[in-house]
Amino acid sequence: MLTIEKYSFGVGDRFAHQAKAQLAGCLQAINEGVEVVPVWNKSHREHTTIGSDPESVRRAADEAVAALGWRKSHYVDADHINMGNVEGFLPHSDFFTIDVADGIGATPEGSAVTDFVAAHPELVGSLSIPGIEQPFESTEGYVMDVATKYIQAVKDAGQIYRHILDRKSGAPFVPEVSMDETDLPQTPPELLIILAALADEGIPLQTIAPKFTGRFNKGVDYVGDVSQFEKEFNDDLAVIAFAIEKYGLPANLKLSVHSGSDKFSIYAPIHRALKRTGAGLHLKTAGTTWLEEIIGLAEADGEGLVLAKDIYAEAIANVEALCAPYAAVIDIDRERLPAATEVREWSSAQLVAAIRHVPECPEFNAHMRQLLHVGYKIAAQMGDRYLDLLERCEETIAKNVTLNLYDRHIVPLFLGR
Ligand SMILES: [Zn+2]
Repeated sequence: MLTIEKYSFGVGDRFAHQAKAQLAGCLQAINEGVEVVPVWNKSHREHTTIGSDPESVRRAADEAVAALGWRKSHYVDADHINMGNVEGFLPHSDFFTIDVADGIGATPEGSAVTDFVAAHPELVGSLSIPGIEQPFESTEGYVMDVATKYIQAVKDAGQIYRHILDRKSGAPFVPEVSMDETDLPQTPPELLIILAALADEGIPLQTIAPKFTGRFNKGVDYVGDVSQFEKEFNDDLAVIAFAIEKYGLPANLKLSVHSGSDKFSIYAPIHRALKRTGAGLHLKTAGTTWLEEIIGLAEADGEGLVLAKDIYAEAIANVEALCAPYAAVIDIDRERLPAATEVREWSSAQLVAAIRHVPECPEFNAHMRQLLHVGYKIAAQMGDRYLDLLERCEETIAKNVTLNLYDRHIVPLFLGR
């Protein structure tokens, strides 16, 4: 059994060049007295778009750890895997995000639902959960409805978990179950029922990624009712603590917030909740580091700036195709995207100000930023031209990557400043 630390941070590194700069952010946190361990995550979708393989993530992570003398743990996450694509990740990953969103709403097999309801009479009636003011009022019909919606997803998670367990033949790993890539958020009472079912499957779950209320658009701030989010987040923490006791789930089970980068307006509520309860957190980021690469290229001026502008020009020329797969997680107003010819005339400082995530900066353009977020395929297609400039502009890029992760993410989330 591999037990993940209380605070962990999912770092995405699409082109496998920023692991050291990312780890430098975690080192800074150690110096400030807080341990946040890095988990390098990359999904099958990202590997396919970029043309990389899971082994490259492990290599970049281990090299960064050795180069910086990092003595704490680090992990490599097979992000959003399923039975169809887990194979290539097995030798290289020690953290598996088992994505069962496709099973949500699927017709359950046999008597799975009635068996679950019969086995869990404690879920029916008035449920008092320490930390939640109002008891949940639940009926057998409600438990039946929730189980009908989620039981197949839970069974899928069990099947994938046992497959990984078997194929890892004794090598320890951290299992996460994710349900975030679906249409509706899971409410705290639904989360309790899901956790009871996951415990029945025998999955020693260490992190769970529900879908939260509100919009978690790529690369930009949270959009939604922050006070509603705060209430649900706190209720979810109470539900998890309760489920650990009641169903024997691992004591370190914690919430995982996906698309968690750049959600500045919910970091203070999250920090307050962690402080108050002592709960842990896993927060997953992916594209924020790729955006810092573009910012670093633009800031380097010269060829770096030209490359950043070329990427934008290609992105705006292919806006439909780039946005289609991400329609549910971006909100781009095409009218607010400046023409490529206009951007060509911009200085380094102008381009940097438009895409660096400082929402109060008048030049900041969330539409450009979201478009570039989903435009990493363009850089991948540029091949060596992109990678060579990443290396030549390493200094400005690394500075931006570290500052972004530390100042904008780790400090407000874990240090509360
Ligand atoms: Zn996710």
